Amino acid sequence: MNHASNRSTTTSQRKNSTMCQHQPPCPSADSADREAAHLVAHHPEQGWSLLCNGVLLFEDTGELLPDGQVVAPHRPLGAEHVTTAA
Ligand SMILES: [Zn+2]
Repeated sequence: MNHASNRSTTTSQRKNSTMCQHQPPCPSADSADREAAHLVAHHPEQGWSLLCNGVLLFEDTGELLPDGQVVAPHRPLGAEHVTTAA
């Protein structure tokens, strides 16, 4: 048994390639419209959501881009009613 013989398989790790299969495709993480991407994970109990383009969207409207860039919250929380479980 020689497992090392099959090393022609190249690992495809592209940083900018998103797995978006939506139609139309979601805006990329560096586009101004990135928040319009589909949600792929939603964790309201932890206060964040993951968008299809790899952007982490926080409850306070702050964002963490896939390249590590942090976007400060840009929507005042006071404008919206935060529903708290009574
Ligand atoms: Zn998508």
